[in-house]
Amino acid sequence: MRRMFRDEHPWDAEEEAVTAPDLDAYERQLEAVFSPGGLLGRYIDGYEQREDQLRLAKAIMASMKQETHLLAEAGTGIGKSFAYLFPAALWALQEGKVVIVSTNTIPLQSQLAEKDVPLVAKVIADLQLGSLRYELAKGRGNYVCKRRLEAHLLKAQQEEVSHLDIARRLWELIDDVREGDRPSLPLSVPNELWTLIAGDADDCHGSDSPYFDHCFIQQARRRLSSSHLIITNHAMFFSDLVMRQREGSGIFPPYDYVIFDEAHRIEDVFSSFFARQVAFGQVETLFRMIRHRWQTWMETVFDAETQELLSPLEQKVRQQMLDALDKVGRAVFLPAGRPDWQAEPPEAGQPWSVLLKEPLAMPERMEETLGDLERFFRQLLETKAQDEPQRRGLERLIQRVADMRDDVRFILRQEGGGDWAHWAEWHVGAGEQLADFFGQNISLVAQPINARAILPEALFKHVPVTLVSATLATDGDFSFIAGRLGLERYDSFIAPSPFPYERNVLVVVSEYAPFPNAPGDAYEQFLFSGLRRVLRKSGGRTLVLFTSYRQMHSIAEKLAPWCAEQGRPLFVQEAGGERERLLEQFRRHPSSVLFGAESFWEGIDLPGDELECVVITKIPFANPSQPLIRARLDWIERSGGNSFDEYMVPLAILKTKQGFGRLIRRATDRGAVVFMDSRLVKKRYGRRILSGLPPFRRGTLQDIPDYVKGQVEQEEKG
Ligand code: SF4
Repeated sequence: MRRMFRDEHPWDAEEEAVTAPDLDAYERQLEAVFSPGGLLGRYIDGYEQREDQLRLAKAIMASMKQETHLLAEAGTGIGKSFAYLFPAALWALQEGKVVIVSTNTIPLQSQLAEKDVPLVAKVIADLQLGSLRYELAKGRGNYVCKRRLEAHLLKAQQEEVSHLDIARRLWELIDDVREGDRPSLPLSVPNELWTLIAGDADDCHGSDSPYFDHCFIQQARRRLSSSHLIITNHAMFFSDLVMRQREGSGIFPPYDYVIFDEAHRIEDVFSSFFARQVAFGQVETLFRMIRHRWQTWMETVFDAETQELLSPLEQKVRQQMLDALDKVGRAVFLPAGRPDWQAEPPEAGQPWSVLLKEPLAMPERMEETLGDLERFFRQLLETKAQDEPQRRGLERLIQRVADMRDDVRFILRQEGGGDWAHWAEWHVGAGEQLADFFGQNISLVAQPINARAILPEALFKHVPVTLVSATLATDGDFSFIAGRLGLERYDSFIAPSPFPYERNVLVVVSEYAPFPNAPGDAYEQFLFSGLRRVLRKSGGRTLVLFTSYRQMHSIAEKLAPWCAEQGRPLFVQEAGGERERLLEQFRRHPSSVLFGAESFWEGIDLPGDELECVVITKIPFANPSQPLIRARLDWIERSGGNSFDEYMVPLAILKTKQGFGRLIRRATDRGAVVFMDSRLVKKRYGRRILSGLPPFRRGTLQDIPDYVKGQVEQEEKG
């Protein structure tokens, strides 16, 4: 394998000359770190050596040395972050390499950057191996752009601008700011101002900027280039990968190895970053951007005469984009002139999405008009651009228009073949169902169905990776996830959680529950009465996980009066709502119950008695009416596979493991998991899902009080 997009080496020749240890020597270093009474134990109170932690660290080291891929499932409590950070740090430091560590969630990313990696650096210093350099990679939009801030102040001399007092104060203090990211600023910046002064790739003058040498973003990039370890998240990792594919270089310096933690999420994040999309909002953004520029550094390009020429072209592009989206929207969503809501009603807050099965013609007039706009900008480039920033600014505009035309064509003509899903979305808002501007609420999307069609070529061929998660294996191996990602050759590592699940976890399955698809509202009625029975036994500190917002809100509405009567606060997740605030309320009220869907199935950390009971309402099958899922199922069937056994069940196994994993976060945690879906014991696939969980004790609702704290007993007696 070759280094990812590397032509030259960032390290000093002196550092290069160091002879790197062999694998045995690295293993001895890892033993010195993890052994009882070893280096790590000096910094962690009550440190206990875990055999599997050391085994995982050695497996990752071997993968780095031998340039092989590694898939690893490490159950909760193994200490996987140190198990990958130490080999990464030791290897990068001694061999002059760069390792990227990517997480899915921001809390884990912050924990690595603020706690774990600094501690690893201290231990490495104790080993007298030198100073470990590391950096948390953040997107450009997290930093203030000095030139944009100055432009905002200059604009204020001619017209009224927003939050002028804050912008002025920030400008006075800017030389004392070190990092330049939003939390490091000496005053709070409102969002409205932040969008005008934050770093923006489309509005950066690069080396022609007067602030280039003191630019916060450039400084952060320089720190990244001299780091051994770069901490990032999957979203930023894939946006860098897309940039490398399109432009040849990205945000990160060339790197030698990637560790994906929370790796069960990478396929979804990957797909969304390779997505193509067309919406009327993009046209609006384009012209808003042009207007902003002609008020600042492009005023000589967009002079009065140019503005006059551009105006009719803008009207044409707007109208034709609206017409095109309107036409597609009506054909897809209103074939009989009105919406067929019964067919596939959208989830609350979600767009109504329909896969495009047949290629559609690209509206000729629109293709022509976008071509005219592109030519218009090209002419400006030749005749009006006076300096490098203006030239680069116009080139970016030309690129945007060309991308827009390509994306419309790509989606409507269904380019990309069977490896892509193409669909239309209707963002149905209250009271606007068939407004005159219907096209404004339609967008067209294309996403790769299979990461396997892109990732091997774009990443795995060049750089070895470790994929690690507490939930990565299905049916005891990695064939599902490896198949999805296109990894053909890899080493495997599986270690169960060291926590005593069998002793501390009670599992109750509602064996007589009606199936979720039972006629009428039998299942919902069962949920309503069953949840009351569970809550009487658990006494609170109960998280109820749903697979649909609609069902969650319907049950919440029915249960709320009972909860109020019982003095049990009921907290319900809202689509797009703030998770941390809700969790804080839940922690504060021990008798409360928390309803969550989607994002609440993973990444929630409520240790000890903060959470004592988890209720899983339904087996978390992916929604087959979501276009990407539908397209993946169709693809598997077309390829001769069984989409239910090969995709729906493995995905449900991973998600059930995630939900189940919310309960036990520490070795001493205890509690109950209640499954309100009898298919888990009555169907073959249900038993397959149950067997993927850590060992547990089966029992009934009557046993729950033995696994949760005292409040229940008082209530039962009462
Ligand atoms: S280099 Fe770009 S991001 Fe940095 S200050 Fe200049 S314009 Fe802003």
